[in-house]
Amino acid sequence: MAIIVHGGAGSIQEARIPAARLGAEQAAKAGWNILVNGGTAVDAAVAAAVALEDNAQFNAGYGAVLTEDGKAELDAGLMDGETLNVGAVAGVRRVKNPILAAKAMLAVPQTLIIGSGAEDFAQQRGLTMCEPEAMIEPCVYRRWQELKQKNSEPTRITDPDEKHGTIGAVAVDASNHIASAASTGGVMMKVPGRVGDTPLAGAGFYAEDGSGAAACTGQGEYFIRLVIARRAVEFMSHGYTAQEAADACVKLLTERLGGDGGLITVDAAGTVGFARNTQSMIYAYCLTSQTDPVSGW
Ligand code: ASP
Repeated sequence: MAIIVHGGAGSIQEARIPAARLGAEQAAKAGWNILVNGGTAVDAAVAAAVALEDNAQFNAGYGAVLTEDGKAELDAGLMDGETLNVGAVAGVRRVKNPILAAKAMLAVPQTLIIGSGAEDFAQQRGLTMCEPEAMIEPCVYRRWQELKQKNSEPTRITDPDEKHGTIGAVAVDASNHIASAASTGGVMMKVPGRVGDTPLAGAGFYAEDGSGAAACTGQGEYFIRLVIARRAVEFMSHGYTAQEAADACVKLLTERLGGDGGLITVDAAGTVGFARNTQSMIYAYCLTSQTDPVSGW
């Protein structure tokens, strides 16, 4: 069994590190508790993702960054490595926990729904809904106002002054089933309707029993163009460890397109990996041999 979570690649202000690390550790532990009690990898990854979405330190769920017109448009994706079922939502504004909408999507034939259709779906499934404004954290809103005054372009993952903190979780359970979850608000000042890699299976997340799982973070367009999450799992299917696969993907991202970001991985043997080419990427993990969370950035 293993679980690893991340809290976004980018550059993190020194002062934010302790709280972000703690949030990542608590999320990893929430997922780990499910694994040790016989729960599934899907449930563990989702529990970790919910904890991260609910934590305003991260750019997912409450506290997410805003579009050019000041709205939080949220994306999330989930994959069950046993069935290869995928559930994802994009551009939702009224769903408190987008990852739970992605989980509900696992049970239907569609893989990805967007906007008001996704919100209606979440509501019909009994998920907690909210007013769009309730997802906006005051500090994020103040930053948005400053950027708006400067007519700022969409920010980049390497901007040191911006909030980064897309979240992801990958897990392998006691039955060796594997899952991957990812959730984000995207990038600050993004064009309304812009969707990055996070809700796209293969680009932002992927899981396949027998091989492994990956969840990505970074400038989404590069991850889409290189289909990074799928590649990571492909590397593991050819015998790479989780760490080797993560390293190989970051090398590819850097050398092929000069993209910025990172990813977390778990392999079928229950080892974890993490790699980035940005200044930081908050992570935390628990393993059978290491049940107290180990974290870093
Ligand atoms: N990958 C996310 C996106 O492009 C952003 C991030 O990971 O910070 O939407």
